[in-house]
Amino acid sequence: MSATDVRPPVLFCDFDGTITMSDNIVAIMKHFDPPGWEPIVKDIVAERKKVRQGVGEMFALLPSSMREEVTRFVLENAGIRPGFPELLAWCEKNGVEFFVTSGGIDFFVYPLLAPFDIPRDHIFCNGSDFSGERIRITWPNPCDDDCDNAGGCGMCKTTIIRRYPREQYRRILIGDSVTDFPGAKLADLVYSRSHLTEKCRELGLPHVPFETFHDIVAHLEQGDWKR
Ligand code: MG
Ligand code: ZN
Repeated sequence: MSATDVRPPVLFCDFDGTITMSDNIVAIMKHFDPPGWEPIVKDIVAERKKVRQGVGEMFALLPSSMREEVTRFVLENAGIRPGFPELLAWCEKNGVEFFVTSGGIDFFVYPLLAPFDIPRDHIFCNGSDFSGERIRITWPNPCDDDCDNAGGCGMCKTTIIRRYPREQYRRILIGDSVTDFPGAKLADLVYSRSHLTEKCRELGLPHVPFETFHDIVAHLEQGDWKR
């Protein structure tokens, strides 16, 4: 970030494995263990299968009658990564916009974020439909024509990121895994964990590995992000 850069930062933050300590979709599948989920996850992580297709297929392995059980499991087991309230407070104090851009599902994303003061229109995630025999994932935030992932994102992070043009904003992405790969390529800076750190290294993208949100606040505090 150069000293002459006057673009205000805008933050796009992943949910599963980033705001929460682990990936809730993987945790649901591991716990309830419907036959056939493992190869789907492997194919998604290896980018052999699009996220949208894979996530849809995995939830279709679970009957809608398990709604309460699955929801309760996530709410009781998902831990929030340390420093998250502090990052939100930093954004508030500095007038920086903060978006949750999640490949997770509404029935656990909204309840887990309820303790934090994030406007609903700053939270993007996938939807769910429990009216049929099996859980059906819905996709209210699909890829636009400029996404080069051929409609495969599910919740399309790049569609949201591109609403904040590079010329006007310093786009900062926070994430950990495969749903963050396309967005990372558009970002000025990536705060990365896990698979996303490896991907950023491989592609030579500017990134700062982090463990807690305290690390991110400390790094943002150093930056000359002010106008
Ligand atoms: Mg994630
Ligand atoms: Zn997309």
